[in-house]
Amino acid sequence: MQEITKILHSLPIDPLTGSISTPIYQTATFVQEAPGEHKGFDYARSNNPTRQVLETLIAELEHGQRGLAFASGLAAIDCVLKLLSAGDEIVAVDDIYGGSFRLFTHVYEKFGIKVKYVDTTESKELLAALSPNTRLVWLETPTNPTLKISDIEAIARYTHAAGALLVVDNTFCSPAIQTPLSLGADIVIHSATKYLAGHSDVIAGLLAVKNPELGDRLKFIQNASGGILGPWDSWLTIRGIETLPLRIEAHSRNALAVAKALETHEAVESVYYPGLPSHKNHDIATKQQKSYGGVVSFKLKTDTQEAARLFATNTNLFKLAESLGGVKSLVCHPASMTHKSIPAEKRQSSGVSDSLIRLSCGIEASVDLVQDVIQALNKISTSPSIAIKTQHVAV
Ligand SMILES: *Cc1c(COP(=O)(O)O)cnc(C)c1O
Repeated sequence: MQEITKILHSLPIDPLTGSISTPIYQTATFVQEAPGEHKGFDYARSNNPTRQVLETLIAELEHGQRGLAFASGLAAIDCVLKLLSAGDEIVAVDDIYGGSFRLFTHVYEKFGIKVKYVDTTESKELLAALSPNTRLVWLETPTNPTLKISDIEAIARYTHAAGALLVVDNTFCSPAIQTPLSLGADIVIHSATKYLAGHSDVIAGLLAVKNPELGDRLKFIQNASGGILGPWDSWLTIRGIETLPLRIEAHSRNALAVAKALETHEAVESVYYPGLPSHKNHDIATKQQKSYGGVVSFKLKTDTQEAARLFATNTNLFKLAESLGGVKSLVCHPASMTHKSIPAEKRQSSGVSDSLIRLSCGIEASVDLVQDVIQALNKISTSPSIAIKTQHVAV
């Protein structure tokens, strides 16, 4: 059966009423027949029927055994970090999501958790960073915003040989593109805020794992810490996932069209998109992904922020906002928005130059998005105050 059919028909019909839409159980507690005798639900922090439908759904989509739903992507990440003890180490991808970096550094370091950042596209760097204290290897692939691709299957082997668990933040792909658990990962994380919910109208996080015992430990932490997803937001996320494969097809098609158009424009120095043959790890992306996703980044042929800001304020369909993965296209200037808190030198060395722009391609018609990008780029080429480097610079 195809993915879309499976998703739509794995969602249970409400046994009580026949409701075809998952009911929203807006309740805090459940009446018991006798002390401890109930229908599997006692208190809604521990378990809620609406949330449970979503948790079962993400486990199935990610080819796992257990799923868990949280109040945000970061609450899901926080739950995974609570598996660790003082002295434990994480080896993480170097251009990790800024919010994860902030949580690692400013919350967990003081509890004695160490994080080493490496370029996970280079296996030598990864192997050198592993130690007997390594408990988790933390990947994002593709990364944000430079779309670096790491080989999940190979890294899962190195991680397990070192006695650690592999965590993959699968937000940028969604299970419609990539299922890390089937490539050897142990824990998959989602900011469901992005592609899974898909309409820029909810903040939500999800986890999926293969090993039921690991699932039990995470479930214990979820209940003990309490960062659960509420029933309304669970429903919105389920509702979003019903159309995930259709949306992802459109996101990927649009991003490829936009990436190809960007490559031909005189104001553009380099384009980052795993679907382009010019991408450093295009082959690995092709091996482990079904398509290449909706995010495209590019650098302009100038070293200043001025041209990037001119672009970001001159698109009509791409709205200037943080976040990604929604049905409507968004544009972001990482150096002055999502990555502003990272010192300029560190930011630039990780590839986030001042003229880098990130596009989240929505599900509009490709031709309209391409036109919008081209007209905004033409404003840069014709601006009297912006000097575009004329020499071709090799990437
Ligand atoms: C947005 C995002 C997060 C954080 O998710 P929230 O739902 O905003 O808490 C984590 N990882 C990645 C890759 C993200 O893009």
